[in-house]
Amino acid sequence: MAEILKAKPVVDAMKEELTKRVEALKAKNIAPKLGIIRVGARPDDLFYEGGAKKTCAGIGMESEVFEFPVDIAQEALEKAVKEIGAKKDVHGILMFFPLPDTLDSKKIRELIPVEKDVDCLTTAGAAKIFTDDPTGFPPCTPTACMEMLHHYNVQLKGKKCTVVGRSLVVGKPLAMLLLREHATVTICHSRTEDLPSVCKESDLLIAAVGKAKMIKGNYVKPGQVVIDVGINPDPENPGKYCGDVDFQAAEPIVARISPVPAGVGSVTTSVLCKQAIMACELQNGIK
Ligand code: NAP
Repeated sequence: MAEILKAKPVVDAMKEELTKRVEALKAKNIAPKLGIIRVGARPDDLFYEGGAKKTCAGIGMESEVFEFPVDIAQEALEKAVKEIGAKKDVHGILMFFPLPDTLDSKKIRELIPVEKDVDCLTTAGAAKIFTDDPTGFPPCTPTACMEMLHHYNVQLKGKKCTVVGRSLVVGKPLAMLLLREHATVTICHSRTEDLPSVCKESDLLIAAVGKAKMIKGNYVKPGQVVIDVGINPDPENPGKYCGDVDFQAAEPIVARISPVPAGVGSVTTSVLCKQAIMACELQNGIK
């Protein structure tokens, strides 16, 4: 039976550390704040926003939602994002994408100041990650994977790590973060030949594909660590979610595996707060 790498111990440890950092900032009369920019009211955005606000409140940190109607004009949203970006009391910004088709998303996202870009939405933010700039904020999901790996002391140096998925939000930045820690990284995608064999060769397998239960028993091997980033509607259990890994098939084989739900996805809002606190510290010359 594999060890289940649950999110809760990771989240609890992060909460303790972040609460102390917020207290230390408040002792200097600095109140760290996360700004959340939302256009419209998509259920997924509202769900994530609720989680982010709750996590902020739980560590004594402020958050403020800036909400705009779906029919907002490009110029009006550009003006608003610039104004929010310039607010001295907002240290980190989360903005929900995609925006409605009537808006130029690329132009809007680039208006977020890089020093407040705590979810790596801008090109300048991404450049920092790919150049190993320590003042950069990687996207929250790959960072949540790294928090899980660190918390559970998964060895990375010199190890073979396979990341399935090459999106700019998860796969590519995750590969950079693993490389930083001296893993030997293979990035797979939809054109990879003989994917099961490539996955099976690795010490650490991370699935970020977006295909429910695609990683079957023949993709994994004994001794392996498996991190499942996927969040998909479960085809066998309507109304429930499942990962990209077929947990029932993989768990009896591998050494350690993260579940879905209660895995990587549950760590992302803590990462968001951690990065906003770090942004606040950097903006105040504390780190
Ligand atoms: P995405 O942009 O759709 O990218 C999916 C990647 O998987 C692409 O690189 C694609 O390859 C690859 N892929 C698709 N089918 C494949 C196949 N049959 N074999 C091998 N590779 C295949 O998705 P994403 O935004 O990175 O998200 C990935 C998963 O993570 C989703 O389940 C999403 O819900 C989840 N997610 C979770 C969180 C969280 O907080 N835990 C956050 C964001 C996303 P190509 O490049 O060749 O098309």
